[in-house]
Amino acid sequence: MAVLVSQRCLHHALREAVARCPECGQFFCRECITEHDDRVICAACLQRVAVQKTAHRRRFGPLLRVVAAGGGLLVAWVFFFILGRLLVNIPPEYHEGTVWQRELEDLQNPP
Ligand SMILES: [Zn+2]
Ligand SMILES: [Zn+2]
Repeated sequence: MAVLVSQRCLHHALREAVARCPECGQFFCRECITEHDDRVICAACLQRVAVQKTAHRRRFGPLLRVVAAGGGLLVAWVFFFILGRLLVNIPPEYHEGTVWQRELEDLQNPP
């Protein structure tokens, strides 16, 4: 804090700086600095960060949505593909009622 006391705000030369902006490294007074995402940042950097964020979202938003939808479709396809394979692998006797009948008989008459 000893460093801060000797520092003055970038915008107000008469005011003592209370915080240092992690983005630009400049010192600012209480009025010139704001909290953003759990860290103190100067107004100019806050504006820049906000613009970057919206631009980032605008650029990757639709692409991410397409990727998510495609991934969801792929997962659904794989799920039904495996389900289909399992159904195909079930022996036809099972549907005719012989497998479970045999198992039931084994349960009733243990060897
Ligand atoms: Zn800054
Ligand atoms: Zn200031």
